[in-house]
Amino acid sequence: MSKRETMLPYGQQWIDDEDIEAVITTLRSPYLTTGPNIGQFEEAVATYVGAKYAVAFSNGTAALHGACYAAGITAGDEVITTPITFAASANCARYMGADVVFADIDKDTYNIDPVDVASKITSRTKAIIPVDFTGQPCQIDLIMDIAREHQLVVIQDGAHSLGAEYKGAKIGSQADMTMFSFHPVKPVTTAEGGVIVTNSEQYYEKLKLFRSHGITHTPYAKEQGEWYYEMVDLGYNYRMTDLQAALGSSQMKKLDSFMKRRRQLVAIYTELLKDVPGIQVPSQLADTNSGWHLYSIQINQEVTKKSRKQIFEAMRAANIGVHVHYIPVYWFPYYEQLGYERGLCPIAEQWYAQALTLPLYPKMTDEDVQDVVHRLRMALLDRMNTDE
Ligand SMILES: *Cc1c(COP(=O)(O)O)cnc(C)c1O
Repeated sequence: MSKRETMLPYGQQWIDDEDIEAVITTLRSPYLTTGPNIGQFEEAVATYVGAKYAVAFSNGTAALHGACYAAGITAGDEVITTPITFAASANCARYMGADVVFADIDKDTYNIDPVDVASKITSRTKAIIPVDFTGQPCQIDLIMDIAREHQLVVIQDGAHSLGAEYKGAKIGSQADMTMFSFHPVKPVTTAEGGVIVTNSEQYYEKLKLFRSHGITHTPYAKEQGEWYYEMVDLGYNYRMTDLQAALGSSQMKKLDSFMKRRRQLVAIYTELLKDVPGIQVPSQLADTNSGWHLYSIQINQEVTKKSRKQIFEAMRAANIGVHVHYIPVYWFPYYEQLGYERGLCPIAEQWYAQALTLPLYPKMTDEDVQDVVHRLRMALLDRMNTDE
């Protein structure tokens, strides 16, 4: 079997002429940053998810940092998150000097297990950062119940789940704060970008402060003169540009059609993979509607008699851009040096050992999906790269 001409990536943006036009229009406008597009983009995201406020940041990681600041997380606090996520979900707590506590995942949803979260709460716990891994919403109502009981702040990492639904409501209206990322592989893109949505005016004000140096224009001392502003806390320059916001507003219009297309492609994958021995397709809780950011399968290597590494390499050799999401965060040397040991979250580690992400993005064709599955079958049979 010959390889594909070019690599089919695991995820990719979809930019059309309308998006390009929006950016060019902004380039010709008086504002390249902190202009009218920022507010419009924030409004579009807040309205879409059903939240009162939205604050745009330069990227999702900066947005998570801002949310940790707004939540008042400080040194000595503990923050609970999942190990099956991108490192930023944990790193944001470290930026504030807090300690990260990893709770294990649920074996069916691959999201953080609310029961394990509850068992890890101590007098130092300040916040929970659940992640909607692959776009499948975490069990946010159970997590909010636990948080209310112990007066914890919940920052939902929705980097994968813009447009996804939990019990009929869009992700973004349930947690204290929710982060969305607009990196190119995410549901819609601003190249780099992040947004925090919240219903709390207090968090909203703090997020805006943190995004721009801790500077406020509130006229505390108007008698000083029109030029006067104050820096009231140590903030950062985490602002999004107007170019990015213009692209974001244009992309938001396409979110529903992108989501629909992802769901169609997933239905094809699931149908074609359902009788492949040793392959477990991702499942979904009945009351959730996943955004399908990623399509991650589990490979039972006892059945396939091929290791995940062999299958990964065979697929890559055929130009199928398979990937693995994610290496347990506490396995990284940085966290290892802080004292985290292997075996901490056994279900997460088991997940990682068997996980393989197949390409999934709106611009893929039905034939692309059929080709990926065909080549996966060949890899399992070890006929990759040999003529049939
Ligand atoms: C992408 C991602 C982030 C970080 O977002 P950036 O915009 O890349 O900074 C955080 N958490 C998860 C789960 C992500 O996938």
